[in-house]
Amino acid sequence: MSNVEFSDKILTLNFETEVNTMKIAVVGFGAAAIGFVSEAIKKGHKIHIFERSKDVYSSSISGLRSDGKLFVSKDMGGDLHIPIEIQREVIDYYTSKLSETDRKNIKTGISFAKDSEYFEIFYSKGFEPVNSRFFHIGTDKLASVLKKIYDEFMESKNVKFHFAVKIDNVILQDGKIKVQSENFDDMFDYVVIAVGRSGHKLVNRIAEKHPELVLSGNVVDIGIRYEVPNHVVKKLNEEMYEFKVKMRTKTGYMVRTFCNNPSGKVVLEKYEDFVTVNGHSNSMAETSNTNFAILCSTSFTEPFNDPVGYGSYISKLGNILAGGRKVLLQTYEDFVKCKRTKKIGRVEPTLPNNAYVLGDVNLVLPRRIALSVSEFIQKLGEVVPGLAYPDNLMYAVEVKFYSNKLDNGKYENLKFIGDCSGHTRSITYATAHGKMLAQNL
Ligand SMILES: Cc1cc2nc3c(=O)[nH]c(=O)nc-3n(C[C@H](O)[C@H](O)[C@H](O)COP(=O)(O)OP(=O)(O)OC[C@H]3O[C@@H](n4cnc5c(N)ncnc54)[C@H](O)[C@@H]3O)c2cc1C
Repeated sequence: MSNVEFSDKILTLNFETEVNTMKIAVVGFGAAAIGFVSEAIKKGHKIHIFERSKDVYSSSISGLRSDGKLFVSKDMGGDLHIPIEIQREVIDYYTSKLSETDRKNIKTGISFAKDSEYFEIFYSKGFEPVNSRFFHIGTDKLASVLKKIYDEFMESKNVKFHFAVKIDNVILQDGKIKVQSENFDDMFDYVVIAVGRSGHKLVNRIAEKHPELVLSGNVVDIGIRYEVPNHVVKKLNEEMYEFKVKMRTKTGYMVRTFCNNPSGKVVLEKYEDFVTVNGHSNSMAETSNTNFAILCSTSFTEPFNDPVGYGSYISKLGNILAGGRKVLLQTYEDFVKCKRTKKIGRVEPTLPNNAYVLGDVNLVLPRRIALSVSEFIQKLGEVVPGLAYPDNLMYAVEVKFYSNKLDNGKYENLKFIGDCSGHTRSITYATAHGKMLAQNL
C-alpha cells in the first residue's frame, strides 16, 4: 500500500509548493496524526506522513487497532482542555467511517450520569465516579475505519504517505527542520511529531538535544487486569458499559478502573523485552467474562527520573516468575492470603493458558501497590458484592506508560501532538489535539 518512491539513494519528496502553503512532515500515523491531517488538508499544505509500520493496518498496538472505545469526557483522556463540541466532532468523524449498519449498531452509553443510582452508591463508599459518554467501535471494525480514512487522505493530491519509514531524528536548522531516517533526510517548513508512546525513542532523542521542551514527567500507572463473570456486573455493564471510578486508598495512591470490556478477552501486550496484560472486546459479544484494569498512579520525585524503567522492571519481574514471555494469574482470594494459586475456581480465564502461569502476584507488585489494589477491590465488593468473589481472576502486570509533558510553545514550527506530547492518553483527546493544532495553522 506504500507509495514511497525510493530513488537510488534518497526518497523523493517533490511537491510544488505554492505561496502561503507549507511543506509539512507528520511523523507517525495514529490518532493525533489523523486529527491533524483531516484539518490541515483543507488548507492546501503539502503533507508528508511518515509511518514506521508497513501499512495502515499494521502499526504498533494502540486503541486505533485494538478495541476502539471513543470517550467524550472533560475528566479523562488527558490534561488539555478539549471543548466537548470538538470531542463530539472527533466521534462523528470516526463513526462516519463505519457502514450505515455498523453505525446504527455501535454500542454507546454514559458512565455515571448524575442521575444514575450507581453514582450515589459508589460515591458513598469513597469512590469518585468519572462521568463520560462513550462509543465502542470494536477491534473487528477498526481496520475498515482506518482504511476509509487512508483512502480519503490519499484522494488529496497534497498528501503523501511513506510507510515503512522510521524517523530517527528531527533537527532544527536555520528556521527549517531536517527530518532524518535511515534512507533519507529532507528539510520541512513545519514538523509535527505524532509518534504516540511507542515512539518514545525519537521523542527522547529530540528532548535530549532540547531539554527546554520538557515540562515534567515521572509518572507510571501499575496494576493488574481483573476478570469477573459477566453476570456479576451485568447491571453495571447494561447501564454504562464502561464504568470508570477512582479512589484515593489508605496508601495515598490514587487507584482507578480502566478499559472495561464486557464479554471481552484478556490479551498480552507485547513489548520488545517483556509482556504485560491488557484487554479488549469485539463489537459482537464473545465470552462470558468482563475484564478491566485496576491501576495505581505512581509519581516520583528527584533523583528518580525513569518511570518507564520502573514499569518495565516490574513487568519483567512478573515475566521472570512466569518463566518467560507470560504473565502471572492468581485468584483474588489467594492474592489476599498471599498464597500461590494452584487451581482456579469458577471463573474460566479468557487469556489462552500458554500465555499465563498460576502464581502469586504479591511477589511482583511493590507492597504499596499491592495494598492499594487489595483495598480497592474490597471496596468495589461493597458496592457490587460479586466484584470481590474469591475466585475472580487477577492478571499481572498491567502498566500504562506516559510520555514526559512537552512544551509546544517553544518552537513555532516543531510541535508534538497526541500521547507523545504527554498531554493526552485517549483516541479522542489525541485526535482533537491534532485537529486543534491544524485549525490554528
Ligand atoms: C492496547 C491499547 C488499547 C487502547 N484502547 C483504547 C481505547 O479503546 N480508547 C482510547 O481512547 N484509547 C485507547 N488506548 C490509548 C490510545 O490508543 C492512545 O491514547 C492514542 O492512540 C494516542 O494517539 P497517538 O496518535 O498519540 O499515538 P498512536 O495512535 O500510538 O500513533 C503513533 C504512531 O506513530 C508511529 N511511530 C512511532 N514511532 C515512529 C517513528 N520513529 N517514525 C515513524 N512512525 C513512528 C507508530 O507506529 C504509530 O502508528 C489504547 C492503547 C493501547 C496500547
